Amino acid sequence: MRQKIVAGNWKMNNTLDEGLKLTSEIINMISDEVRGDVTVVLAPSFVHLTRVKSLIKDTKKVHLAAQNCSEHTSGAYTGEVSAPMLASVGVEYVIIGHSERREYFNETNEQLARKVDIALANDLIPIFCCGEALEVRENGLYHEFVCNQVKDSLFHLHDDQFSKVVIAYEPIWAIGTGKTASSDQAQEMHATLREYIGERYGTDIAEKTPILYGGSCKPDNAKELFACKDVDGGLIGGASLKSRDFTDIIKSF
Ligand code: PEP
Repeated sequence: MRQKIVAGNWKMNNTLDEGLKLTSEIINMISDEVRGDVTVVLAPSFVHLTRVKSLIKDTKKVHLAAQNCSEHTSGAYTGEVSAPMLASVGVEYVIIGHSERREYFNETNEQLARKVDIALANDLIPIFCCGEALEVRENGLYHEFVCNQVKDSLFHLHDDQFSKVVIAYEPIWAIGTGKTASSDQAQEMHATLREYIGERYGTDIAEKTPILYGGSCKPDNAKELFACKDVDGGLIGGASLKSRDFTDIIKSF
């Protein structure tokens, strides 16, 4: 059985009070009703990590993620946040390679490979994002494109390192657009990724790798997406900012 994960990426949203209120509501709403095997992850901004951690530390169901980390361990990198810093405040997961980081901050596959290494070296679990833009989908080369992102940033890892990684397939044309991938489109890409991982790491590791879907996942489409054989949960943007929507998505398993 693969790990099921629903992660909320708050992006650059929520004041401290709003983030703490949202966290408390989520904790209360999921307390009894969520399947024991679903891992819930919250990714607030860096400045809210410690306070959100204090709220979730007594629940076993909610875990903490950062939205990014530096590719360097320490030093003169003004404004950056390192993996050791994140680990030192109890962060467990880190989102790496979100399409917004790739697009607005020019993050490359090679740079993301270094972030993955530094995250793993500090016992953080990378949630590695991949996904194609609309023109790549339309020219039909999206399988190669997404597999190459995974190869270039992850396939240098040893088996024991790769086994810790979570992948999030997020077609860029579906992020924040309200235009979700159909369950068939999601399943097709997830199955392709799993097969590709299997060719590199073997079926055992491929079968254990959680592959999340992201892109306009909402309470009304989560059930169908999560029912797909190779979809192991979701990375949720907009809908993670509303406690009711986010918990309804979690309960879609
Ligand atoms: C995301 O940014 O990772 C995302 C999936 O956003 P949304 O759910 O808003 O499409």
